[in-house]
Amino acid sequence: MRMIFLFIDGVGLAPASADNPVNPEVCPALCRLIAAHSKPIDACLGVDGIPQSATGQATMFTGVNCAAAMGKHCEGFPGPALRDIVEQNNIFLQLDRRGKKVRFADGYLVSSVDELALHRFKSVTTVMALTLPKSIATSDDLAAGKAVYQDLTRETIQDRFPDIPVVSPQRAAENLIAIAQENDFTLFEFFQTDVCGHSMDYARACEVLRVYDQFLTTLVRYVAVSGITLVMTADHGNIEDMLSRSHTLNEVPFIAFGPKEQELRDQVASLADVTPAILRIFDGK
Ligand SMILES: [Zn+2]
Repeated sequence: MRMIFLFIDGVGLAPASADNPVNPEVCPALCRLIAAHSKPIDACLGVDGIPQSATGQATMFTGVNCAAAMGKHCEGFPGPALRDIVEQNNIFLQLDRRGKKVRFADGYLVSSVDELALHRFKSVTTVMALTLPKSIATSDDLAAGKAVYQDLTRETIQDRFPDIPVVSPQRAAENLIAIAQENDFTLFEFFQTDVCGHSMDYARACEVLRVYDQFLTTLVRYVAVSGITLVMTADHGNIEDMLSRSHTLNEVPFIAFGPKEQELRDQVASLADVTPAILRIFDGK
């Protein structure tokens, strides 16, 4: 069982409209996956208010309903109580305990794990990756094509890191595939969709989705013949409603494509089901 988990931030499901850039003209590969290989799942988690990143992601990667545990949806970077939940119980640690090789494919702009640990603000995925230091990729990995930068093409870091060459979205996908071939579980996080969702700039949202779709097109073509299972989901909606600056209450797509896709989809109804479903698949259940 090999799996690529694409975490895409801030992409929910909404009917087609002039303000929803998630449409086949803009991102055909994503829309095909949503149409044929996904089911809508809940991101509100039974807690009032608008879903937010810290609790949504912590829930997705632990199987604990963290919004319920915290009594609210928490934004941005997790605080101490939420970090505790992630540090004690996350999908990286649980797969590692099963003897599975886990990699966080997003390359950090640091020379070592120790340097990353000193960062003041840590996302849920960073907190999780630090519980399994061997999962972490650094700037050397990026330079060697053994990691993927969070913007896919590395264009945003050229002024500061000229040694990390610009790549096409297709090349980023090829790099991710090579990483996935050497691991049992490979995570790639993309959050530019959430960033542009907050901007209310429709043209920018389309541009971000187009780049991601080029990456996804290459990835899907390979995954279809490789026996790798692709799983993809979002922590909350945002970009599907460009009339609003905030996240949405919409359901998010849970995409599973490849071996065990139906079994995976059958087991998920909310973000809290994602990690347990993946672990059951790795356990052969
Ligand atoms: Zn956001």
